[in-house]
Amino acid sequence: MSESLATVAYIGAAILFILSLGGLSNPETSRRGNFYGIVGMTIAVLATVLGPRVTAAGVPWIIGALAVGGGIGLYAARKVQMTQMPELVALMHSLVGLAACLVGFASYVDTSIQFGGAEKAIHEVEIYIGILIGAVTFSGSIIAFGKLSGKIGGKPLLLPGRHWLNLIALLVVIWFGYLFLQAHDPAAGMMPLIVMTVIALLFGIHMVMAIGGADMPVVVSMLNSYSGWAAAATGFMLANDLLIVTGALVGSSGAILSYIMCRAMNRNFVSVIAGGFGTGAGAASAASGAAQPAGEVVAVSAAETAEMLRAAKNVIIIPGYGMAVAQAQHTVYEITKLLREKGVNVRFGIHPVAGRMPGHMNVLLAEAKVPYDIVLEMDEINDDFSDTDVSIVIGANDIVNPAAEDDPTSPIAGMPVLQVWKSKTSIVMKRSMASGYAGVDNPLFFKENNRMLFGDAKKMLDEVLGALKA
Ligand code: NDP
Repeated sequence: MSESLATVAYIGAAILFILSLGGLSNPETSRRGNFYGIVGMTIAVLATVLGPRVTAAGVPWIIGALAVGGGIGLYAARKVQMTQMPELVALMHSLVGLAACLVGFASYVDTSIQFGGAEKAIHEVEIYIGILIGAVTFSGSIIAFGKLSGKIGGKPLLLPGRHWLNLIALLVVIWFGYLFLQAHDPAAGMMPLIVMTVIALLFGIHMVMAIGGADMPVVVSMLNSYSGWAAAATGFMLANDLLIVTGALVGSSGAILSYIMCRAMNRNFVSVIAGGFGTGAGAASAASGAAQPAGEVVAVSAAETAEMLRAAKNVIIIPGYGMAVAQAQHTVYEITKLLREKGVNVRFGIHPVAGRMPGHMNVLLAEAKVPYDIVLEMDEINDDFSDTDVSIVIGANDIVNPAAEDDPTSPIAGMPVLQVWKSKTSIVMKRSMASGYAGVDNPLFFKENNRMLFGDAKKMLDEVLGALKA
């Protein structure tokens, strides 16, 4: 393939990636968006492999790597449960970071291309920054994987003087960057490069370890953004325009998502990144027992729940992480269909950080074929709870916790929540009184107009469906 044909293919792929992102912004067009992405990536890979920069001797290596990588990817994608998806995404981000580091070291020791003067300096800056971003992305994503899979506890690790530690690390990285650029040959430049890489790896670990459970959504989207910038940096190192464009697309869309997540959680981006936001006071209040919810917990049966639903005119369903764990979305759809046929106005309220990844609930509900027009965002539905007869909370906890509004010492204080307690009756479906991801007690369970339906969400909903049909 000639250079100009490869360039045309790259432009086509870049346009397809932009169309893909546009499509993915809406559930109705997301399938098309995905399709554009697949076609774009196929064109990109073919144009690269058949392009002028790959020699015939390299092709078997590329095919071998494609077979191994593709095989592992296919296996992982088929095996992964929907609830493990966020962990898988975190692992994939870590691979992008690792790739940026490896490409950085490889292009530094590669002497086949000789740069002179300013070009050499620019190339070395690209390498230094590329490895820096890659290493932070790699180690940060590994820790995020650990936290999301529960292998590492959600509590933030707050080292004394952590902001100073970060500042010192930054200054050391700048100093070694200077030494790196002064080095005359790869042997001399290797030491500063390795020191910076180790510091960047430690920084990535420290940054994510310091972030409290409730702030993880921001970290996940932020690492998504970092992985994009790492890919863009790799593009600079390899002088590959498409990789630069694609990386910038992922980087900027991830940054926008982080901003949206921060706004949804009423968090300041810098405070989240600095770590430990709001956690100190929360721990203190839990220790003193001041924020312990009080009152009586009233349990109901599936039959009673069905009775309340049958008598209701307006129902709002709030799905959360537990619905994903129980895989209860199809039964939720059956119940919704039945109630709508009986003339009940059923709608869904989706919190921006419900579940364990952005859009988690939308994906599950779309999979179960719930019509999009009854699935509403938090801002669109929060004012309607006071006119609602029954709100059913299915495996959600943090996103319906009134402590976020009422208790300034709560670790989730200030996070907007779905105000289910304003409806005539709220029913919370979960297996126990256990707390959610943020590890915070929920006073909703003790409210007078709240009922608890204890059990696995799928099992309980099957029973509710049976009772509704009877
Ligand atoms: P939560 O984690 O707050 O609560 C989920 C609840 O589901 C648990 O309390 C659990 O209670 C219940 N549950 C678990 N399994 C089942 C089951 N099989 N059947 C019924 N219930 C079950 O989830 P939310 O969706 O309310 O909130 C999301 C949380 O995750 C927020 O804190 C958010 O910050 C965080 N997060 C979100 C991310 C995102 O991008 N969306 C990423 C990372 C973190 P029990 O054990 O008693 O059943």
